[in-house]
This record gives sequence, C-alpha cells and structure tokens, in this order.
Amino acid sequence: MQIVRFKAGDTTRYGALEGSSIAEYTGTPFTIFRRGRRRHALKHVVLLAPVVPSKIVEIGVNYRDHAAELGLPIPDEPLMFLKPPTTLIGPDDPIVCPPISARVEHEAELAVVIKRRCHDVPAARAREYILGYTCLNDVTARDLQMKDGRGSRAKAFDTFCPIGPCIATDVDPNALTIEAYVNGELRQSSSTKEMIFPVEDIVAHVSLVMTLLPGDVIATGTPPGIGPLQPGDRVEVRIESIGSLKNPVVKL
Ligand code: MG
Repeated sequence: MQIVRFKAGDTTRYGALEGSSIAEYTGTPFTIFRRGRRRHALKHVVLLAPVVPSKIVEIGVNYRDHAAELGLPIPDEPLMFLKPPTTLIGPDDPIVCPPISARVEHEAELAVVIKRRCHDVPAARAREYILGYTCLNDVTARDLQMKDGRGSRAKAFDTFCPIGPCIATDVDPNALTIEAYVNGELRQSSSTKEMIFPVEDIVAHVSLVMTLLPGDVIATGTPPGIGPLQPGDRVEVRIESIGSLKNPVVKL
C-alpha cells in the first residue's frame, strides 16, 4: 500500500495512491484506518508531507560507499542527531535557501515512519513498529555544518526536510535503489544494501534512547554524490518502490 496525505478543497485526509487516483480512507494509519467510498484524481488534489512527526531523527555516515568517499571510518554504532519538525515540507513545496549560507546541499535518504509508540525495541521486532518508508531530502547548509562542527544549525532551517510522496508499506527497506537528481541530472545513485546499519538496527538503537511515537521519522543516511543546490534548481529524490519526491529551490 502507498499511503498519502492530501488536501482536496479545504479538507486534509489520508488515502491510498492507486495509479493516477487516490482511494480515500477514514481515520489515520496510526489508529483505525478504513477505506472509504470516494476516489480523487491525483491531478485534482495537493499531496502533503505524508506524516507530521513529533521528531525527525537522523543517522549520519550510514553508507559504506559514502564513508569511503569522505575518507571516514565505518562507525561502530549509528551516529544519531535530530532535525526539528519545523523543517518539514511536502512534495513540490519550495526549499528556501537562507541568506547566511553560501552552500546548501541535497542528501537523498530513505526514511522510516514509526507506526506505534515504542521504547527499547529489539532489532528482531523492529518491523512490528514500522508503518512504512518514504523519500526524504536531508537538506544541509554544508558551509555552516563545517563551520559549526555539527549539524544542529546547518540542518535545521525551515523547509530543509522535504518528505514524500507516499509511505510505502510493503517493501524490503534494505534492498532499494536510491537516487538524487538535480534538474534531471543524476547526482546520487546507490542501493540501501550499502547501509552500514539496516533499518531494524537503527530503530533498536534510537528507541533505546528515546520513546518513538506514531508518525515519528528516522532518516537513515545518504549515499555518495551529495552536492550543491542553487535557487532555480529542481531537486528530486527517487527510491525504488516508493516514488519520486520533487522540490523547487528558491532564495529567501
Ligand atoms: Mg543526512
């Protein structure tokens, strides 16, 4: 199932993406979720970020090929940090480059969406707590990250977390092609097979620290090929079996 959140007229709802239309559902994927009778043509609705998380947890340096590209050692446990939920935007929403950064970059990532409240989940049971997977662009002001020696500021600007277009529920997250395109040109290309820590280990690791709530998002790291974005660009994160997340880049 490909779960979407969308706006039709003034109403926001969840639904299932089925080709060029959406089957409307009542409730939410975290409570009671039932298929309704109405369908909407995709072209007549606005797709929103498929979830509104209480927190966005990120994992750094989680691709073997990206660690090699950066000349960094393979971490012995997942490197964890937070991105504020106010960074969140949906498909086609603009990424706004702040004037205090001269180098804003894309990072294509597979994101895990949590289904049920959990704490201290063993890796072997992690899938029970995962609703599904979506595309995420961990937009980063690289110059500020280098200057600060951390990403707390560089990854936290409003609009720096496009996610979507859907939450795919029936995919193997550890064997998906992941790509980023800028203006149609391929910039990042890898497979989630290259992840150092698979999603189950990541959920176990993060949930040992903090309680995860329904809708929380965990971004699982980016493959090689990260690079700059300029106002006027159009950036796309594409993940096999999930879809394509496209956003224009603008200046403030
Ligand atoms: Mg990242």
